[in-house]
Amino acid sequence: MANEIESLLRQVGAVLDGHFLLASGRHSPLYVEKFRLLEQPSHTERLCRLIADHFRPQGVQLVAAPTTGGIILSYEVARQLGVRGIFAEKVQEGRRFGRGFRVAPGERTLVVDDVLTTGSSIREVVEAVRAEGGQPIGVAVLVDRTAGRVDFGLPFFACLTLELPSYDPAECPLCAQRVTLTVT
Ligand SMILES: [Zn+2]
Repeated sequence: MANEIESLLRQVGAVLDGHFLLASGRHSPLYVEKFRLLEQPSHTERLCRLIADHFRPQGVQLVAAPTTGGIILSYEVARQLGVRGIFAEKVQEGRRFGRGFRVAPGERTLVVDDVLTTGSSIREVVEAVRAEGGQPIGVAVLVDRTAGRVDFGLPFFACLTLELPSYDPAECPLCAQRVTLTVT
């Protein structure tokens, strides 16, 4: 299944091979562009089904996500579970639910996002849910590019787990081979 998902992501161009400059300044042979997947509703629906099926037995009452790609995930997972899907936007400190979104006291909330990189956006949504009195019951992502290194203290599910190597530019084997560097 993991292989099937990885080939799907490669096929649509959401996982790219090459030589990439990451936001951290490090170089990587792999790059994830989530919108190559999210722009295709049928593929997005298929991966969201894995998330919905995984957490359905937990009695999810609400799905919440961070902006921007997360909005699509929240909508689709919520649609499949037959519950509301909301999103939290960036404010000065963390994130909050605007636009009249409500979290009922104790509401069992699944937090979803597209790509897990550092986990900070997801943490902020988990905190926003708790701040409203809701109960986060799990975290799900399409792609975990930390190879399972981030722990939210909640049940976690990733459709695909990737080990994403990165190199200090001074020690980068792709630089050594003079492969053209792509700035993303
Ligand atoms: Zn390099």
